[in-house]
Amino acid sequence: MKKKRRPTLRQWCTEVELIDVSLNKQYWSMEIGLKYDKKKIAKLEKQSLKLSEYFLKKFDEPKELIDICIAGIAGAKTYRLSIKFKEDRYKKIRTNKYKFNKQPVSWNTWRQFAAKATDKQRKEVFDTFIKLTPKITPIIKEKFETNKKIYAQYGTDALSMYLRDHQIKAKPLIKILKILRDKSKKTFKKQFQYYSKKILNKKPEYYDDLYFVRNAIFKDMIAGFKKIDGIKQIKKAMREMGLNPNKIKVDTANRPKKYASPFCYPIKVPTDVRLSYKPENPLNDANSMFHEFGHGIHESSIDKNLPYWIRNVSSMGLAETFSTFFEHLMTEYDYLIEEMKFEPEYAKKLIRRINFMKLFGVSFYTGNSLFRIAYWKENLKFKDCNKRYAKELKKSMGMKIPGAYWQLHHILPSSLMYVPSYMVAEIQQEKIKNKLRKKYGNKWWKSKQAGKEILKLMRPGMNSEAADFSKLTRKDINNYVKSITRKI
Ligand SMILES: [Zn+2]
Repeated sequence: MKKKRRPTLRQWCTEVELIDVSLNKQYWSMEIGLKYDKKKIAKLEKQSLKLSEYFLKKFDEPKELIDICIAGIAGAKTYRLSIKFKEDRYKKIRTNKYKFNKQPVSWNTWRQFAAKATDKQRKEVFDTFIKLTPKITPIIKEKFETNKKIYAQYGTDALSMYLRDHQIKAKPLIKILKILRDKSKKTFKKQFQYYSKKILNKKPEYYDDLYFVRNAIFKDMIAGFKKIDGIKQIKKAMREMGLNPNKIKVDTANRPKKYASPFCYPIKVPTDVRLSYKPENPLNDANSMFHEFGHGIHESSIDKNLPYWIRNVSSMGLAETFSTFFEHLMTEYDYLIEEMKFEPEYAKKLIRRINFMKLFGVSFYTGNSLFRIAYWKENLKFKDCNKRYAKELKKSMGMKIPGAYWQLHHILPSSLMYVPSYMVAEIQQEKIKNKLRKKYGNKWWKSKQAGKEILKLMRPGMNSEAADFSKLTRKDINNYVKSITRKI
């Protein structure tokens, strides 16, 4: 019998990527509410698992692939738990007392319901859902603990891998988060009081969460966006910078089972990158399209000749750097006046409110991040998580919020790390933008040269300079806080 030859690294990558692409297509269909094949997913997940295990047995490098394979194994072994968690959350977090589209309000329709409900109804649903969290606690616990065990088998944990991806150690990351938190807290509290009085005519309360306020605060500004087509605008801006957004495919259909929030999904980097969104209102749509197209242009600009593990961005901080970079175009005064043709007062009001929401995000997400880091770093017991979460939010937001809320969040219970990425990415994108402003002026988005510089940061995938978050300094954090608290 002829002995089977061990595949080269290149052959292994080709094989793994083929499976990735098929799997991505299935998950994409699932997320946009089309038919998908559960059997096929199971088969592909199994193949992917085998290939990852094979790699860890037979190869010692590249180091990046070792981490990717461990994460892949954990993912393949827990994907059923992830699907079950989503199903459980839909079935168990619901109340018959209130209806949305003639159906009991469930976790999936909670935000849409909250946008239209009275203050009392909103509080009631919030309290009910908090009370119902013990029904989903076992599945979240199982998911986290199974992952913990799998990572431990390979002598690592989710935090260590996350830190390696972001080229930063735990201590400096915690320091960045704490500086950011402490610098923003006072202004946040003051502004939260102000906007709460102005918009809701009451004091801020625990059930006025980021996702509710984010909708409420822009309500009286939506009419100003009537003529704005977010997709057209962001594509135009990108083209003027010499970038090519045409390769990004967008799915705008409104299917009942489609995931409600907009997202970017790279099927194959850089040749097949897709976006999905359900139209809400032109203001929110523009905001999310600026963000998602930022992801899209990043993924589709990566050099196709790079090896698999450098092309497929594994650092969420790097991914969010480019999405927030483009999202922040909507806080550039000159851009709003010249490109969106807004009146000066309207533009200023919009910037002030977007910046307040960024500040809200900092207060909320620094707390989320420090909680998540503590879970891994301090080996928190699952039963102590709620208490710790409440403590971190009290520190970051200055409010008492029920600790079980983290289990109802859309990222915290389903992702092992992720949340600090938003924070480091926000600081990183402001750092990049500051450089562009100095070189090309306040209208940097009109400069092809500025576009070239961005492309230079996007093209190398994981080898990008912007992937190194250890280089963020106190000054960079200060500059970011200044940018979102500036008077305008
Ligand atoms: Zn994003």
